[in-house]
Amino acid sequence: MHVHVVGNACVDTTFRVGRFPAVGETLNAVASADGLGGKGANQAIAAARTGAAVTLWTALGKDAAGAWIRGRLGRELSDVRVNEFDLASDRSIIVIDASGENFIVSGVACSEAFDPISQTALARRIGPGGILVMQGNLPAAATNACLRAAQQSGARTILNASPIDEAALPDFDLVDMLVVNQSEAKALTGREDMAAAAGALAAKGAGTVVITLGGEGCLTLGPGQAGSVRLPAPRVEALDTSGAGDVFCGCLVGGISKGMSVTSSLKFALEAAAISVTRPGTLLSCPSASEMAALVD
Ligand code: ADP
Repeated sequence: MHVHVVGNACVDTTFRVGRFPAVGETLNAVASADGLGGKGANQAIAAARTGAAVTLWTALGKDAAGAWIRGRLGRELSDVRVNEFDLASDRSIIVIDASGENFIVSGVACSEAFDPISQTALARRIGPGGILVMQGNLPAAATNACLRAAQQSGARTILNASPIDEAALPDFDLVDMLVVNQSEAKALTGREDMAAAAGALAAKGAGTVVITLGGEGCLTLGPGQAGSVRLPAPRVEALDTSGAGDVFCGCLVGGISKGMSVTSSLKFALEAAAISVTRPGTLLSCPSASEMAALVD
């Protein structure tokens, strides 16, 4: 099954500082670096490393950052469809202090302007047997239009509703599989208990519901299933959990696209995400294609 990931790609600029600056203060960073980021890019790359056939549909500015992102994507993905805008490419500034606390500011002009159904050939390319994968970075109307087109064409739809914009949520009726973390599940349902939250998300129309539980693994509730099932994560020494959710989603999608059952795909995703949390970085910590292959064998 061909995987179409529709989502954002950006430059993540990380500054390490001894302490956060005060309001109005200018502070020199101890170190700084640019890396490829964006949940769309991260999930597409994780899925491609599982061996899945992946197309990434994304939006970039006609600027140096856009050219840089395109080059980085090209190292990992054989099929990248870029919609170009006369806007600054998306960028996140991540500031991390000596204790590991961070704050993040994102410029999202390209994601906000991106409307894949009217601006790209996505609707023509997606069909029965395909999988559409989206995240919460595009406007809800654009996300809904993609999900609807995919559903009408007989493709499977997977939404990682992250980040969530409670004022403008995608339509869960259009989603065959919904993936959220605990805080998102709580924000969407008001439930503290994750089994109850999964039931509430299914009642909102999502087909299969998957809630990731950090070091506790994940919980899943299939369509028509009486109760949810918990799957544990491998016990590891976690060093940096940033990006673990994207590795999890990309590997879940990769497994499903290769014909693995949902349960086997979830177990594979748990193994891959556990490896990623033992290493620093977001995309940098994602297991390589050979590590992914070893997990499936
Ligand atoms: P997010 O990264 O989106 O906030 P989670 O914290 O739930 O979401 O993590 C996503 C997945 O990453 C989990 O379901 C799990 O598979 C893996 N993971 C996260 N933290 C750990 C950990 N401490 N040990 C093992 N796996 C982890």
